[in-house]
Amino acid sequence: MKGWRRPGIARFLKLIFKDNEKILITMEEKRTEIAALGEFALIDRLAAPFGPRLASTVKGIGDDAAVTDLGDEYGLLTTDMLIEGIHFDLTFHPLRHLGYKAIAVNISDIAAMNGIPQQVMVSLGLSNRFSVEAVEEIYQGIKAACEDYKVDLVGGDTTASRSGLILSVSVFGKVAKDRIAYRSTAGANDILCVTGDLGGAYARLQILSREKQVFLADQKMQPDFEGKEYILQRQLKPEARMDVVYELAEAGVIPTSMIDISDGLSSELHHICKASGVGAVVFEEHLPIDDQTAFVASELNLGPVTAAINGGEDYELLFTIRQEDHAKLKNNPKISFIGYLTPNKDELLLRTKSGNVVPLRAQGWQHLEE
Ligand code: ADP
Ligand code: MG
Repeated sequence: MKGWRRPGIARFLKLIFKDNEKILITMEEKRTEIAALGEFALIDRLAAPFGPRLASTVKGIGDDAAVTDLGDEYGLLTTDMLIEGIHFDLTFHPLRHLGYKAIAVNISDIAAMNGIPQQVMVSLGLSNRFSVEAVEEIYQGIKAACEDYKVDLVGGDTTASRSGLILSVSVFGKVAKDRIAYRSTAGANDILCVTGDLGGAYARLQILSREKQVFLADQKMQPDFEGKEYILQRQLKPEARMDVVYELAEAGVIPTSMIDISDGLSSELHHICKASGVGAVVFEEHLPIDDQTAFVASELNLGPVTAAINGGEDYELLFTIRQEDHAKLKNNPKISFIGYLTPNKDELLLRTKSGNVVPLRAQGWQHLEE
C-alpha cells in the first residue's frame, strides 16, 4: 500500500482553507442573525433548494413527519432533539423521565400523521458528568416508552459532548394511504378538535422554575408540590396520544388535518391554517383547561387561557373533522370541539367568554427553561 503523498495533501488543504476563508469573509459581510429570522423562516430558507428527487418521496419538509411510498402503505419518518439547558433542566428532570419523553415526543409526530409507530433510533451526546449508571437510567425510560408504544429500538449513535446532554430520536412509522392526515388538507367549516387539556405543561414549567429560584436562594427550602401532581407529571412525562389515533380509527373518522401541540395551540393552529389556506375561530369557553392548571396559572398571575393558548409541550393532538363526523366523536370524553375553520386565509380569532372577537396570538413556544 502506498503512503499519502504529502505535497498533494498540502495543496488540497490549501484549497480548502482558501475556500473557507472566502466563505467566512462573505459571512462577515452579510450576516443575518438566526434570531432575526426565526426557526420556521430559517427552515423554509434552508429547505427551499430541496425539492423531492425520488418518486417514493411523497411529502418532504413541512409536516410532522416525512411521508414515503412503501407500495401498499405510507412510511413516516420523524426526528426530534432534546438539548440540556434548552429543552430540559437536569435539576428538575429525572433521567428516566427524560428518556421516556424523548421517545414520546417523537411518537407524537407519528400520531399527528394518524400513523402507527414501528421502530426508533436513539442518538446520545454525553458529557463526562454522566456515569454509565446515569445513562442506564435514561434507557430505563426509553425501555418503558418502547413498551408503552409497542415500538422497537433498532439503533442510534453515541458520542461525547462538551455542552451537556443531547438526546436525538428518530422514529419510523406507517399509515394506510387512505388514513393519512396532513397539515395542509383542512377545509373551511371543518370542526376544530383538541385532545386532553391544554396549558398543563406550561404551568408546571412555571412552578418548577419558581421553586428552583427559591431553592437557589435558600437551599434549606423544600418545594411544595402538593395538589400539583397532575401538571408536574404532564411535563415530566408527556404521552403521545396514540390512544386517540386508535379511537379515531374505531369511530371511522379520518381527520381532515392534524398536528401535535408541541409549541402551543395558537402556533400549531397557525401551521394548519397556513398550510391549508384557511382561517379559524376558537371559542374561549370550549378550551379544555384542567383545574390544577387554572389554579396554578392564576396563582402565578398568568391567566389560564394564556397558558392554554401559548403554552407548549402538551403533546395533545389538534385536528379538524368534517361536520358530518361530529356525531361519531361527540361522546368521546378525550376530545373537545373548540372552534371551526373559516375561508378567511390566516385569520385566527378567539371568541372570548364575554362575546368579544380578538386575534389569537400565534407566538411560538421557546422551550427555554433557564
Ligand atoms: P415538529 O414541531 O412537528 O417536530 P418542526 O417544527 O420541528 O416540526 O419541523 C417542521 C418541518 O421542518 C418538519 O418537516 C421537519 O422535518 C423540518 N425540519 C426541521 N428542521 C430541519 C432542518 N434542519 N433541515 C431540514 N428540515 C428540517
Ligand atoms: Mg409536530
